[in-house]
Amino acid sequence: MTMEVTNLVRSQCPFCSVQCKMQIEFSQMQGAAEAEVKVEGLMNKASEGRLCVKGMNAYQHATSNERLTHPLIKKERHIRSGFMGGGAYCRCCAANCCAG
Ligand code: SF4
Repeated sequence: MTMEVTNLVRSQCPFCSVQCKMQIEFSQMQGAAEAEVKVEGLMNKASEGRLCVKGMNAYQHATSNERLTHPLIKKERHIRSGFMGGGAYCRCCAANCCAG
């Protein structure tokens, strides 16, 4: 039997000064590749529990595979990812021209 794993997170939209509150529910069947995501606005005076399109999709920034996990360092003409001297690689071209 497969079980559903659910994670419930209360958060706040970061996009504009309204700062709408939201609840995000991640549900995933065991062995499934992707989670089902439900986003719901929470009551607050400014938005009265509603979210705009940007807010409803804001969770995608946190779950994206392309999310930056290290600071970027610009050196000469190249933008590198990672910390100085530790496994940095070039993000501005696919050739790893300045890796190392
Ligand atoms: S949901 Fe829309 S209106 Fe609310 S804070 Fe985010 S961007 Fe602003």
